[in-house]
This record gives sequence, structure tokens and C-alpha cells, in this order.
Amino acid sequence: MVSIPAIIFSIDEISSLNATEKVIDKVYRDQLNTILISVDQYTYDVVNSWTRKINLLVVDSKQSGSTEFNKKIKDFLRLNPTVQTVVFSDINHPDETEFYSVMDDSILAHLNISRQDIIRSNYRNIREVISQHQDSIRRIKPVLLDREDKEEIFFFPLDFTDDTNDFCGIIIDPRTFIKGILAPEIKTLSQSEFTVSITDKNTNKEILVSNGKKIGKIQQKKALSLFPNFAAAIFLKDRTIASLVSERAKRNLLTIFFIDIILFAAIWFLLKNLRKEIEFSKIRAEFVANVSHELRTPLSLINMFAETLVLNRVTSEEKKKEYYSIIQHESNRLSRIVGKILTFYKIQEDKKIYNFKPSNLNSIIESIIDNYSQHLGNSGFSFQFEKNKNMPNINIDEEAVAEIIINLIDNAVKYCNDHKEIKIITDQNKEYVLVKVIDSGVGISIEDQKKIFDKFYRIQNDSESDSKGTGLGLTIVKSIMDAHKGRIEVESSKGKGSCFTLKFPINNK
Ligand code: ADP
Repeated sequence: MVSIPAIIFSIDEISSLNATEKVIDKVYRDQLNTILISVDQYTYDVVNSWTRKINLLVVDSKQSGSTEFNKKIKDFLRLNPTVQTVVFSDINHPDETEFYSVMDDSILAHLNISRQDIIRSNYRNIREVISQHQDSIRRIKPVLLDREDKEEIFFFPLDFTDDTNDFCGIIIDPRTFIKGILAPEIKTLSQSEFTVSITDKNTNKEILVSNGKKIGKIQQKKALSLFPNFAAAIFLKDRTIASLVSERAKRNLLTIFFIDIILFAAIWFLLKNLRKEIEFSKIRAEFVANVSHELRTPLSLINMFAETLVLNRVTSEEKKKEYYSIIQHESNRLSRIVGKILTFYKIQEDKKIYNFKPSNLNSIIESIIDNYSQHLGNSGFSFQFEKNKNMPNINIDEEAVAEIIINLIDNAVKYCNDHKEIKIITDQNKEYVLVKVIDSGVGISIEDQKKIFDKFYRIQNDSESDSKGTGLGLTIVKSIMDAHKGRIEVESSKGKGSCFTLKFPINNK
């Protein structure tokens, strides 16, 4: 449930990345369009300025005469080397066309077209452009003059005379125009972020790159409207649009991925803690029930036998002795349970005080056996103690260690499953002094072996031993071993018995 917003957010982010990509693409397409419009405008301005100059020359020639006009038109051509040829003609008499050019005839001849042919073969186009011109459509519309070598020569009709049949035009080589006149303008327009290149569409060769070298593939490409055989392309100066978009997309996806991982980890952590908390409160409730049961059983037994004795209902001395022994046993059990709870409380509150002194584990175990063996023997248990006679003295709290060993023996008894054999072994290796408490009882599964040292934890067996316990014993054992800088380990298999090993460090200062 909690992860739904994260999933929705991720899907939304991924789809918005696509949208962003489109927006970025559009931004650069618009940028290219803006540049192209400015290029057209600039071309128009340049051609217009030529128109004005030629018009002035024509008006002047009416007074100064044709020689002066010839000289001035040659000067104009020298000053504007982009203009190859200026053409004056009558649309009805193309044969009388006059050409003014800085080029000599041999070059035009080399182009393999006669001057009249240029006009004749483009007669219809020229007519159309001129009539539009006369209708005051002030657009510059170039006429592409067909050429055998497939290069194009542009013909711009100029405002020239009132006679509707007369016309004037200029012939330019678009390459020279683009390289000579448009290049600085394109450079200014493309600014420092972009590179704009102009390519000849026929040969696919670049004739101009605005900012040094271009990088990557063409992202946006469009024909120049006044020079339709040439295309302009836009690039980012350092990186291509595609690399920028994909870099951004990758970065965003990575961020989303990490956010999702953190989110899912947090959810997982939350659920895990919640489950633990629920389990723990269940275990705590069981603990309260177990403790009350543990206290009530010996108390009611003591009460029952004491009452029988007080009312003098027991006649035989033997029976009386048996009842006294039951009362003694049950009150011992009671005090052990209370002791356990008290020790647990002290450990939890960090109030347990240890009294470390050099002691011998064999002696501690022997005194426990002295106290217990009779009672265990009466209950049908066989008890074995295999001691290592060379056990060194180690620094321990005797009372606390005795409590641990009694706890382990108690468990061996409780979970014996009618295999009433208990063995205690003492031994040592280089680092540790070892005490093993071994039984042949119910055993513990691998899964449960990890949990039995947790506070209040009890394994749910269906044997009658289930009811006897608080789930505190092994928690206390582990805490006391920790205080001794020692370890407790368990080896066990279900149905075969368990071996609890206490490891006390030899050099515990
Ligand atoms: P309890 O008071 O229930 O005995 P412990 O902390 O001493 O609490 O033990 C925790 C659980 O570990 C017990 O409920 C029992 O199921 C299991 N256990 C402990 N010792 C043994 C053993 N020797 N054999 C089998 N199971 C054991």
C-alpha cells in the first residue's frame, strides 16, 4: 500500500522524461527556425541594398550617359564581388539582354550556357517573379537558373524601371553568397551554445560550420528557404541534443531508482519492525501467563500439603516426611523462579553486580552435583561428570556461574523426553575453559537454535514440559556469559538431544 505512491511517482517521472525529450527537441527546432528566418531577412536586406544601388545607377545614367554607367556598374561589381552578373533585359526581347559582369566571357562560356539561354530557359519563372514583383509582393524569390553542371545561379529581379517589360536581375553563386555574406551573420545568430552548419544537399558536403568543428549527428535539419538546395543544421556546441537528453534521462532514472530502493528498504524495515513488535508483544503476554502458572503450581502444592499436615490428617511418619520433602522441593522451585525473575530484572536494568575472583569450575560443578544428585537420582536420572583434572583457575563470579549451570541442568531435566541421562564435561583449549551440559532429550531445530537466547522465547512443543518455564533461563545464561567475555554455543538435533557449551576465556582479567 505504502509503495503505491512510489510506483505512481516513478511511472509519472519516466513518462515525463519522454515529454521533456520532446520539449527539448522542439526548443532546438524553434531555435533553428528562428535562425533561418533571420537568415532570410538578412538575405533580403542585402539584395534590397543592391537593388537600391542599381536603381540609383540607372537613374543617374539618364543624365551621365552610357559610358559613365558602364564604369559605375563595373565599380559596383568590383565592390560587391558576390554579384557575378547584372542583367538588364526586356521580357519580350531576351535577345537584347545586356549583361554586366566582372567575369570575362570565357568563364561564362566555361559554364556552358549562352547568356540569352539563361533568360530564355527561365522565361516562365522570370515572368512569374516579375509579375509578383509588380504586384508589390516584395518578397525576394530567387529564380533557379538551370545549369548543365547542376550548380545553381540565383537570379533576383530588382526594382528598376516603370516599364513593366523591362527587368533587371543579379546572378549570384549561392556558395559565395553563403560563405562571404551569410557566414558572419550565421555565426552571430548561432551564439556560443550552438553550431550551425550549411550543407549542399546535392553533394552532401558542408560548405560552412559556424563555430569551429561540429560534434555528433545532425539533430535538426532544414532547407534554407531562399537557397532550397542548401540545408542548415543545428547542433549543441559541446554535446548533441540526443546525448544531452539521454544523459538527463539516465541521471533522472538513476535518481528515481535510488529513491525507490531507499523507499522500499524503508518500507521493508518498517514492516519487519512492526512484525517483530507484534511478535514481541505476543511473547510478552505468553510470558505473563507462564510466570503466573509457574508461581501458582508450587504455591498450591505447598498450600495443599501444609494444610494436610496442619490438620494432622497424616498418620504415618513416612508420609509426613514425604510431604515435608515435597514442600521443601516446591519452595526451592518457587525461590528459583523468583530468583530467575530478579536476576533478569537486574540484568535488564544493568544492576547486576559481579564478584569476580579466581575460581575452579570443577569445584563449582561438584558442589552443584552434591546438592542435586540425590534429587535427580530419585527422579530416575543418571548423572555423569567427566572432568578435566588440570583445569586452571579462572576469573569468574562463582554464584553467577553456578546459576548458569543450574539453569542448563534444569533445562536438561525439563526437556529430557524420558531419556533421563545428563552428562557434564569440563575441558580446556588454548583460549577457553569449557563446560558442556549434554542431554538426550527433545533436541532443538536449527531454526529455533537462533532464537532460544532471545528474552521470553519458548519453543512450542506439544509435550507436557511446555508448561514449565518462563523463557528467561537462556537469556540470563547468555547475559552472564557476556559479562564474563565468554560464549555459549548449542549443538542439537531434533529428537536426539542437545549439547550446550560454555566457553570461559582463560585470560579474563
Ligand atoms: P524456559 O524457561 O522455557 O526453559 P529457557 O530460556 O531456559 O526458557 O529456554 C528457552 C527454550 O529453549 C525453552 O522453551 C525450550 O523449548 C528450549 N530449550 C532450552 N534448553 C533445552 C534443552 N536442553 N533441550 C531442548 N530444548 C531446550
